[in-house]
Amino acid sequence: MTKREFVLPIEICPICGARGTFQVFGRIDDIPYFGETMETLVTCSHCNFKHSEVTHLGQHEAARYEFQISSEEDMMVRVVRSSTGMIKIPELGVTITPGAGSQGYITNVEGVLNRVKDVLSYVAETAPPAKRKAAQRRLRKIEEIIQGRARARIILMDPFGHSAIVDQRAKKRKLTKREIESLK
Ligand SMILES: [Zn+2]
Repeated sequence: MTKREFVLPIEICPICGARGTFQVFGRIDDIPYFGETMETLVTCSHCNFKHSEVTHLGQHEAARYEFQISSEEDMMVRVVRSSTGMIKIPELGVTITPGAGSQGYITNVEGVLNRVKDVLSYVAETAPPAKRKAAQRRLRKIEEIIQGRARARIILMDPFGHSAIVDQRAKKRKLTKREIESLK
């Protein structure tokens, strides 16, 4: 799957100014039904700056993907989420917005659910009691989805076309002009 990896050593860290500690690691993958992607991870071992991003090297078509999760096997379906991709899981009332400092990553459905789980676990432990209950309810629901006992949809929209749900059962369509405007 991985076609090429590269490391770009950069002399000076643009964040903290340290020498010889800043590095750009890149990997190019060829993903079936989507095309070539480039993942980059930028790190500085001095100031601990870290940023990851995914770019689609193929055609860039503003697209919306919708995938119905209905079994445990569906956890393995690949998800390419760039920092410009918005993820919605309506059954959980969850929206992951492409905000500032947003990271890109290549994962699978389970990886997306685990990220949501981490956030909800944090809320369940630290929020005021009223919000905790709601978070706990959603955590139980996520467990059911992961075990294939509850159904849910994952919707992924990217106005720059760098994101995808990579499965033939995923419904794909172009984003409308209005949707593109609301996402940018
Ligand atoms: Zn640094």
